[in-house]
Amino acid sequence: MDTGAGTFFGSKLGGELQTSLKAAGYTPNEIDAILLTHIHTDHSGGLVEQGKRVFPAATLYVGKPDVDFWFDRANATRFNVAEKYFDEAAKTVKPYLDADKVKSFSGKTALLPGITAHPTPGHTPTHSWS
Ligand SMILES: [Zn+2]
Repeated sequence: MDTGAGTFFGSKLGGELQTSLKAAGYTPNEIDAILLTHIHTDHSGGLVEQGKRVFPAATLYVGKPDVDFWFDRANATRFNVAEKYFDEAAKTVKPYLDADKVKSFSGKTALLPGITAHPTPGHTPTHSWS
């Protein structure tokens, strides 16, 4: 669930996910599913390093309204949202889109056995918890 900020906010505000995974006995290649509550860099920044997917085997589950919103730059002007959020969405999520590793969903959706996304929009178009 979410990947933290990765290296986007500097070394003191993220980047511990891989260290924690290793301490738990896992490698990034073993992660096959990542659930994003929403596309903001403090949740999605850990998806990539130097423009590459950190979790090459993972399918990324994220709400379709978030994908639609953050990959339409006209929304920056339309909703007066800083361009940097669109830049960051492109940096963090686009590598997974390009690799056909994103499964987006709309509404309350069973994503995996025992895990159902429940939309809580407002913070972003499809902020969800599972
Ligand atoms: Zn957020």
